[in-house]
Amino acid sequence: MYLQDIRIIYMEPCLADPEKIRLKARFSRDIRELMPYLNAVIPHAVYNPEIHTLTFTKEFRLLTVYPQEMTIAKALNTTDAFKTLDWFKDLVNDTYARRDQIEPLYTRRRRPTALEIYKYLPGKNCKQCGEPTCLAFAGKIFMGYRSLDECGLLAREEYTVLREALRQLVAGG
Ligand code: SF4
Repeated sequence: MYLQDIRIIYMEPCLADPEKIRLKARFSRDIRELMPYLNAVIPHAVYNPEIHTLTFTKEFRLLTVYPQEMTIAKALNTTDAFKTLDWFKDLVNDTYARRDQIEPLYTRRRRPTALEIYKYLPGKNCKQCGEPTCLAFAGKIFMGYRSLDECGLLAREEYTVLREALRQLVAGG
């Protein structure tokens, strides 16, 4: 098996939404060589080949994959978190097994849409950034008029996973 194990380093409630779980997990091997293949098979993934990151959503969950680890935000609960890790491990191993039939995609995909950016914002509509809603702020990010640093809430510790995932998403566009 190409990827034997994905081990959780930490898992805790999302402070912003204690009903949800966030986690970081480490791979039993470096999967960097497989990332262009995963980029080809995961719909809507945003791949950054310079820094080897792959960011995508699985329904409402936000996943960011690095060569040796990954983060998940907004998992439903512990069971959902483990199931998502199992799903990703199976995807990695299946992609590796089928790699001869897959055309690897070494380039960055399209820019993320405003709606995709919005999914990673705090969603509080607090107006501190000067925009009436988080969606309006996402639209300004998409158009290049605003930067992520202008969302003060995103700088808080509880949004660390979302912030880093969003940076990868925007950087990969
Ligand atoms: S500061 Fe952040 S959380 Fe508040 S409205 Fe703007 S984007 Fe949304």
